[in-house]
Amino acid sequence: MSTAVVVGGGPAGLMAAEVLARADVAVTLYDRMPSPARKFLLAGHGGLNITHSEGREPFLARYGTSADRLAPMLDVFGPDDLRQWCAGLGEPTFVGSSGRVFPQSFRATPLVRAWLARLSELGVVVQRRQRWAGWTDRGLLFAAADGRSVEVESDATVFALGGASWPRLGADGGWVEPFAARGVAVAPLRAANVGVRVGWTATFADRFEGSPLKHVRLTVRGHRVTGDAMVTRTGLEGGPVYALGAAIREALDDEGHCDLEVDLRPSLSGAQLTERLERRRPKDSGSNWLRRSIALDPVGISLVRESGALPSDPAAMAALVKAVPVRVTGSMPIARAISTAGGIAWSEVDDSLMLRRLPGTFVAGEMLDWEAPTGGYLLQASFSTGVLAARGAMRWLGT
Ligand SMILES: Cc1cc2nc3c(=O)[nH]c(=O)nc-3n(C[C@H](O)[C@H](O)[C@H](O)COP(=O)(O)OP(=O)(O)OC[C@H]3O[C@@H](n4cnc5c(N)ncnc54)[C@H](O)[C@@H]3O)c2cc1C
Repeated sequence: MSTAVVVGGGPAGLMAAEVLARADVAVTLYDRMPSPARKFLLAGHGGLNITHSEGREPFLARYGTSADRLAPMLDVFGPDDLRQWCAGLGEPTFVGSSGRVFPQSFRATPLVRAWLARLSELGVVVQRRQRWAGWTDRGLLFAAADGRSVEVESDATVFALGGASWPRLGADGGWVEPFAARGVAVAPLRAANVGVRVGWTATFADRFEGSPLKHVRLTVRGHRVTGDAMVTRTGLEGGPVYALGAAIREALDDEGHCDLEVDLRPSLSGAQLTERLERRRPKDSGSNWLRRSIALDPVGISLVRESGALPSDPAAMAALVKAVPVRVTGSMPIARAISTAGGIAWSEVDDSLMLRRLPGTFVAGEMLDWEAPTGGYLLQASFSTGVLAARGAMRWLGT
């Protein structure tokens, strides 16, 4: 019987373990934490969004420059396969109003429990509290929590060590150094799907921390995204902010700051807004004018005020409401990010996700250099790459 080691017990590693075990490979999975899948379990706290129901082309477009490399993996194990797999574990899924797909329980706990039981039935051995620390001449080196270390040999290895966000859940990016030392090109790990910093006035932060900016359109360097953003004490977060993450990072890298424009009324044109603003009552204060004529809420009005003195000319005010300037001074640290950009360069792996420099060694999940917005795309790619890496390992093992 061939043996395989899977290092990392997140969605990508557990999926690789399942696929290999089903092919009668003796699988041992190592994880540094006392139990696997901690980030997956946390992802389930706010309502586990496991994949998305949109069509192949728009789905793939979410992966930006990695779409071409991920396309074959999503063809091998796509959203429908993932939904069937969930149902097979007793967790049927449904499509929410936004097109996002959720398990009926909304949580990851029942899924993980059933999954670990299934893996155990398939003979997968899970070694907990074993931190992979690098390679020796004979194989893989693991350091146990009690200070002892073990060397492990295997016929094939799948690494699925994740990125570097939420390090207390296990994935801390500690793998970068040993891989780089073996000559594997790794794009720097950066925070993705993360809030940004804005120097709000104390009055604005005190009053509006936690307030949603509903249905706004954010623009950065020609990229536009519409949705609900959230004011935080130190900046902004939420779907449209995350979706613009790559453009924001680029601007921060180039200029040290990023000028974001907030359109507070994306469904009305500048001319329509001007027309409404022309109906100002003589006694209206600036705030009342904005509230009565174009129905801006208090957070919207104050955001406009944050940018300086209010113009009195209706056309100038309309232009401001369509593009309130907000200066982003940085992003929140990677430890607070939902996911990680960067990772092992695509050029380092072949079509089966085997490292060209380390034959018999495969990589999957967030370790690879792809990124995607929230919406189920992160988990889908983690599962899909896990399946593909395992199939590559099976071919390598001749099973
Ligand atoms: C708060 C939050 C909410 C999220 N919500 C969603 C969502 O709703 N939908 C979605 O699609 N995505 C979501 N994500 C992202 C998603 O959870 C990740 O993309 C996914 O877990 C990545 O899977 P992975 O297997 O590549 O890595 P991980 O899940 O990070 O797993 C890596 C594993 O490797 C282990 N490991 C790391 N280093 C070592 C080492 N040296 N030795 C041994 N083991 C090691 C870790 O302990 C861990 O178990 C969310 C993330 C967060 C933080």
